[in-house]
Amino acid sequence: MLQLRVFNRLLQHFYWRTQESTKSLLPGFPSQLWGGYRSTWHRNKSSLPDVRERTLIAVKPDGVQRRLVGQIIHRFEQRGFKLVGLKMVQVSEDLLSQHYCELRAKPFYPSLLHYMTSGPVVVMVWEGPNVVQTSRKMVGHTNPTEAQAGTVRGDFSVHVSRNVVHASDSLEGAQREIQLWFQGKDLLNWECCDQGNMMED
Ligand code: UDP
Ligand code: MG
Repeated sequence: MLQLRVFNRLLQHFYWRTQESTKSLLPGFPSQLWGGYRSTWHRNKSSLPDVRERTLIAVKPDGVQRRLVGQIIHRFEQRGFKLVGLKMVQVSEDLLSQHYCELRAKPFYPSLLHYMTSGPVVVMVWEGPNVVQTSRKMVGHTNPTEAQAGTVRGDFSVHVSRNVVHASDSLEGAQREIQLWFQGKDLLNWECCDQGNMMED
């Protein structure tokens, strides 16, 4: 049994080394796009969720001001997802306009920009099986009046204009947002010591 686990680890290691060296043959090709391509391939081939799926979660300025950062991180850790990137930033309007490019025509867009630039945000990348969809469920409905108790928005907010947290809404959206907020070198591929207890090797 132990031998099998060691063998699996070696295979995993070899798999990542191969990926890394293949990536180095593709200079300029964004690493998150590479991950996304592999995600799709993995799903289609095996129909198992990709354990390395990633999503962008951000604690918005109201969440930072209200000292909710720790509680929000705790929920994702508790669920069993892996933190692979984290930083605190004062966001520029330019970055935000790219982040919210689909909302530019909405009447609330100017106040959304004002809100999101009103103070620092804590932005993170979390990794794990089905993390995009699961984290949307954990974050809850966009409008806190509709959000279920037990979700972040359902527990910590009362109005759509101050809903505490952002979560990517699709795999494609997550890849786009991760590239926008993080450089590839700032995301870490590391091995959780409890991984074998969280999912099958
Ligand atoms: N928003 C708002 N008023 C609205 C709808 C949305 O202020 O009527 C803000 C809110 O902060 C929301 C963000 O715009 O989180 C992005 O909206 P989206 O529809 O993408 O919701 P989300 O993906 O954040 O749930
Ligand atoms: Mg959205």
